[in-house]
Amino acid sequence: MAKILMDRQGSKFLVRDPGSDFHTKFGFFKKEGLKAKKGKIKTNTGREFSVFEPSFIDLYRKIKRGAQIIPLKDIGLIVSETGVNNKSKVVDAGAGSGALACFLANIAKEVVTYELREDFIKIVEGNIKFLSLKNIKIKNEDIYNGIDEKNVDLVTLDLPEPWKALKSAEKSLKAGGFLVSYSPTIPQVMDFVNEIRKNENFAYIKTSEIIEREWEVEERKVRPRSQAIGHSGFLSFVRKI
Ligand code: SAH
Repeated sequence: MAKILMDRQGSKFLVRDPGSDFHTKFGFFKKEGLKAKKGKIKTNTGREFSVFEPSFIDLYRKIKRGAQIIPLKDIGLIVSETGVNNKSKVVDAGAGSGALACFLANIAKEVVTYELREDFIKIVEGNIKFLSLKNIKIKNEDIYNGIDEKNVDLVTLDLPEPWKALKSAEKSLKAGGFLVSYSPTIPQVMDFVNEIRKNENFAYIKTSEIIEREWEVEERKVRPRSQAIGHSGFLSFVRKI
């Protein structure tokens, strides 16, 4: 069972194999200490860390990345706007690294994610195993050709041409179900929303961009962090009616 080590400065390490000594830039931990379920242990140089079992988010932050993953700030809006929960059936495409699909699987009843590229499917399979998720399936299919799942509560799209998946999403979503499209550029948003507006079975809700600004808080030196995350993407929200 993997372990997390964290100190009071927030330095954090994932120890995948507590059966061996673990080396860090602060010195190393002996394997005897790492076996502890919880408590505090010190490196050979005397720096103290707490040991605890990883939670989902500790492991999620360490998943393997092939395709560019969707940032957590954007997942936050998808979760809050759709109210996705433990009764929800979700379809996602393309899987990419499986980041969004795995995050949603941790919340939803079941997730099916579509992906064209076999090399990415291997990465996603590895990430699913690493996160011990049991309610997620990957399909090596083109979502533009259709979605097998019916009566779906949420379809998430992170694709170059999301408007090509509208017919598939329309047939798969239940009435009241959500369609969310994530795109990095405005021409993609325009083409997607224009196609939505032509379809009488969809209601366009809104398009938003989430800008997260992290701050440094160090005594009285309190200011925005100089290196911020740049642009990620726009989120468009639609409901099937
Ligand atoms: N949201 C993902 C990243 C998606 S990257 C994450 O958080 O990890 C976009 C992916 O869509 C790429 O892997 C690409 O291969 C896949 N893709 C592109 N067109 C597709 C299609 N028509 N059907 C299924 N997958 C597709």
